[in-house]
Amino acid sequence: MNIAIIGSGPSAFYAAQSFSNDEKVNVDIIEKFFAPYGLVRYGVAPDHQKTKNIIKLFNRVLEKDNVNFFGNINVSKDISLDFLSENYDAVLLATGASEDKLLNIEGEEKVGVYGSAKFVGWYNGNPEHSNLKPNLNSKNAIIIGNGNVALDCARILAKTKDELHGSDISQKNLNLLSNSKIDKIYIVGRRGPKDAKFTISELREFKEVKNYSTLINFPRETLKSFINDSKIDTRVKKNLEVFDEFYNKDKKTKEIIFDFFKHPIEIYGDQKAEGMKLKNQNGELLDIKSNLIIKAIGYKVKPIGNLQMDKSNNFLFSDNGHINKNIFTTGWASSPSVGVIGTNKGRALEIVKKILSVIIHSKKNSTEKLKEKIINTKLVFISKDQWKTLDKIEESNSMPHFVREKFDNVNIALDVLKKN
Ligand SMILES: Cc1cc2nc3c(=O)[nH]c(=O)nc-3n(C[C@H](O)[C@H](O)[C@H](O)COP(=O)(O)OP(=O)(O)OC[C@H]3O[C@@H](n4cnc5c(N)ncnc54)[C@H](O)[C@@H]3O)c2cc1C
Repeated sequence: MNIAIIGSGPSAFYAAQSFSNDEKVNVDIIEKFFAPYGLVRYGVAPDHQKTKNIIKLFNRVLEKDNVNFFGNINVSKDISLDFLSENYDAVLLATGASEDKLLNIEGEEKVGVYGSAKFVGWYNGNPEHSNLKPNLNSKNAIIIGNGNVALDCARILAKTKDELHGSDISQKNLNLLSNSKIDKIYIVGRRGPKDAKFTISELREFKEVKNYSTLINFPRETLKSFINDSKIDTRVKKNLEVFDEFYNKDKKTKEIIFDFFKHPIEIYGDQKAEGMKLKNQNGELLDIKSNLIIKAIGYKVKPIGNLQMDKSNNFLFSDNGHINKNIFTTGWASSPSVGVIGTNKGRALEIVKKILSVIIHSKKNSTEKLKEKIINTKLVFISKDQWKTLDKIEESNSMPHFVREKFDNVNIALDVLKKN
């Protein structure tokens, strides 16, 4: 059986792991970037290296003889989905959700306003966003959203160079962040502290941030009454208890402000963002001046070829993972982009089971045909051995106290490979 998996994030690797347990199944992983691992490399925060440990498991899958890697091949741009569908027994789209959702307010397109896909991509060295140059000269930064991605963005903006030791942030970005003029970071939520989607461990990290006090723009007495409510959900209660501790934190010159019950109304400024108008619960208009506004409000799928989107327009339309013919989907490409890395495992295993039960093996020499197509189209792919070489070089290029110095540009990576 010949399977093409498109993408190399967690969903792709969980599926590849399951497929490859059967030695008669050959798996070709096709990835648009030269590096594998999807959002584990380009989404998970650089100071959350423990989370990135899952890469060790993914590497064990890559090591298998019946798993191949074709990096630097963008499906539907470089190679059509039709070609893969014709030459493989099944094609599994595990392409994730790389686009930012829109706020749909005036001024959203102004310079200095970024979706978190771009901003996080920038600090993580994603080749599509590594040249972003966010304006860190702004005194105030506004982050819209009350999920963990908003916390990641705030923490990376707030931490000092020393606090980022042990991370894989690049030297270039570390220097830019160290020279940042930001001294107030607003984390804006439309709803209140009870509705915030933060997880407790991410919230607790703010107790340790060295240069910033953490303020809660919410009456403490009301917060305490929520905590004392016997019907409150345990997860929510634990978050509220952390918020409660924030009221007592020592006053520092810089501040992170959890600004609840604020509706973004408009981003103003000429071509560049100068600030944001918001409405509070009483309908009063408020104004925060800022040249750096980050929208951490969720992700949607970038359309692939002419595949139909779900009615929400956020992910690919499928019948429980089956798109059409021998094409299937899983992970964030196939459903709302929520949940942690491990959430993708169950869904990947289900789709593998389905594919193995409905597809009859008939396609031969799929890998050879893909290689031939790549050569004939004058594309350059990165093999798993070449990725291993790049991986080692990234580690050995690392600054003292850091984990690796990522390549953030495919041409540089290809040049390095020529010399090694
Ligand atoms: C900012 C951020 C931080 C996160 N932090 C955590 C965390 O700390 N802990 C945690 O458990 N979870 C975290 N998550 C969630 C986790 O990253 C996701 O659940 C998971 O990555 C989704 O896996 P996926 O394989 O479906 O998609 P992805 O990880 O996005 O992988 C999709 C892959 O497909 C590739 N691709 C896309 N289009 C094409 C194409 N046309 N051709 C070839 N390849 C293509 C992409 O380059 C990518 O490699 C975070 C998510 C975000 C956005």
